[in-house]
Amino acid sequence: MRDWLRRRVVARSAVAALTVGLALLAAMAVVSSRSTARAADIAAGTQQTSQQWNEIYLKISMEYELLEDYLDSPETGDRQPLLSSIGSAEPNLRWLLANGGTDDTRQVMALQNAYGGYTYTLRNLIDAAATEDRENTLKYARQAALSASGLRRQASVNVARNNLAIAVVLRDAKDANARQLIAVEVLSLADLLLVIFCGLVLLAYQKRTERQAADNDYRASHDGLTGLANRRLLGERVSRAIADADRAGPGVGLLLLDLNRFKEVNDTLGHHSGDLLLVEVARRLSAGSRASDLVARLGGDEFAILLTGVEGIIDARTVAQRVLAELCGPADVGGLSVDISGSIGYSHYPSLSASAEELLQHADVAMYHAKRNRLGIAAYEPENDNNSFEQLTLLTDLRFAIDRGELELHYQPKVRPADRSVAGMEALVRWRHPTRGLLGPQAFVPEAEQSDLMLSLTEAVLDMALRQQAEWREDGRHIPVAVNIGAACLRDPGFPARVEGLLRQYDAVPGHLTMEITESFLITDPESAAAALTHLRDRGVRVSIDDFGVGYSSMSYLQSMPLDELKIDRKFTAEILTTERGRAIVTAIVDLAHALDLTVVAEGIEDEKTLTVVGEMGCEHAQGYYMCRPIHPDGIPKWIDSWTSVPVPT
Ligand code: C2E
Ligand code: MG
Ligand code: MG
Repeated sequence: MRDWLRRRVVARSAVAALTVGLALLAAMAVVSSRSTARAADIAAGTQQTSQQWNEIYLKISMEYELLEDYLDSPETGDRQPLLSSIGSAEPNLRWLLANGGTDDTRQVMALQNAYGGYTYTLRNLIDAAATEDRENTLKYARQAALSASGLRRQASVNVARNNLAIAVVLRDAKDANARQLIAVEVLSLADLLLVIFCGLVLLAYQKRTERQAADNDYRASHDGLTGLANRRLLGERVSRAIADADRAGPGVGLLLLDLNRFKEVNDTLGHHSGDLLLVEVARRLSAGSRASDLVARLGGDEFAILLTGVEGIIDARTVAQRVLAELCGPADVGGLSVDISGSIGYSHYPSLSASAEELLQHADVAMYHAKRNRLGIAAYEPENDNNSFEQLTLLTDLRFAIDRGELELHYQPKVRPADRSVAGMEALVRWRHPTRGLLGPQAFVPEAEQSDLMLSLTEAVLDMALRQQAEWREDGRHIPVAVNIGAACLRDPGFPARVEGLLRQYDAVPGHLTMEITESFLITDPESAAAALTHLRDRGVRVSIDDFGVGYSSMSYLQSMPLDELKIDRKFTAEILTTERGRAIVTAIVDLAHALDLTVVAEGIEDEKTLTVVGEMGCEHAQGYYMCRPIHPDGIPKWIDSWTSVPVPT
């Protein structure tokens, strides 16, 4: 901004200086021509004066010559020419008096007296000569000769003086001209330099304007944060690519990507971290695509990649897999390690979509399908196209489902690896949908979490789980149960009291109820989480962190939260047998949990070996398909009997 202001000041100064320079040059020309004209006028005037003096000289000489002629032969000569020549210089003297300069006036006045005397002498001489008065004739002749030579001298002096004056005027005019010429040359040079400078400034301005226009064009078509193309540019390129594909060549693929759990990162770590993450995602997407592909950010955490020259759906899938592989993995965001993952939906023109609009819409449907079903990647399939409609009706249906008792719980046991005894059951919700059959939690819990339904859903689950526990108790089985608690519940101030009410209603042992909270919520809203959990824990209810270690590395909440248990996400458990790193991570989590006096549950145990190893590593509890998949409660007593009848391997 400051630079721009400086340039503007320089440009304006240059133009002002050029204007002044040109005005000076014009003024110089006027002054020069005026002074030349004035000098010429003065020279001409002086010339005229000089001429008058010259004539006076000649006339005096003429008078004297006529006198000499007359004196040479007075008896024969005609005295008339002499008489008419006397005083012939008078008009010149009068002219000089009227038009001459000060010096001339002074000289004329002096000369006029002498000239008057001279003419008087001449007349007397003529009279004396006519009367043949020889004596007076000689006297007057001598006097006239003296006067004539004096007068001629005076006249010639004045001619010389005036000629000198002309020479001075001409010399001065020449000097002034020379000075003005130098000034004009200097000014012209300065003006030339200013014209060049103004031209350069103008050129710079033009370049700047062109750059600015290109910049504006870029801004209108690109995302300000990541520098990727925006929705507008993507729309244009999709249409162009389809037109090209129609003319000749293979089809067009479109990938649409949505980040998983981006909102949590934004809410938890702040918008600045969210921005850093998006920039990193943009980098990874660009790295994973070809130079000819167009990577765009459509807004929020939604990205798109336009693939030109893609033969068919198989090729689009290959690119989608490569892009997802490039995208997924931990990223350093402001010093914290955040796990990036996303869902990609794709479609292909002309095999799946028939127009640019359809291509965009179908990729969107596919992406939604991939996200909802945690598929990672999904192609467009027409049967998924009513998803958005389904989503709209889903929440209404779910509301009725809770009231009509369509929700049911399946239970997955937790065992102690040390002695294989049953430690408890985790209640996992299912929806027996009247038309779509038995739905897993992924089909409706994420939607419920985004609505006001989570509270009633969790309370319905708590009610069913505690009732089931009471039924088992009546059969002589004292089984602790764990329930997953949605974030919305801990934000509701009345929730702990309602849990207490349910514990009372079913006469439950508070220590036999564990609440599983996801780690992200503890970070997002630590105050309300701490208040609600402290209240419940004071009443004896156990608190567990579910899916520990997924995507978050901020562990400060471990210090302040009232906790009893930590469940290691199955992502880590899955790796303990295969990688040293997986083993090291689980060991570290177990050590950390024990240092904080927390019980450790290893999730996702799928084989005997893993169960043994997690036991050796110090996990108090284990849960997984190896022991039992989540099953209907009717099957639990049978499973317990069969599981406990198997001898513990040694
Ligand atoms: P979660 O609380 O971590 O539950 C464990 C999930 O892992 C269950 O999936 C279970 O079937 C699965 N699982 C257990 N052992 C293994 C294994 O060895 N291998 C594999 N691959 N998977 C295993 P499910 O029932 O589909 O539940 C998914 C998630 O849905 C749950 O994860 C929980 O976050 C949520 N959820 C389930 N029921 C409820 C509920 O009543 N309320 C709330 N708020 N969330 C629920
Ligand atoms: Mg759980
Ligand atoms: Mg879990």
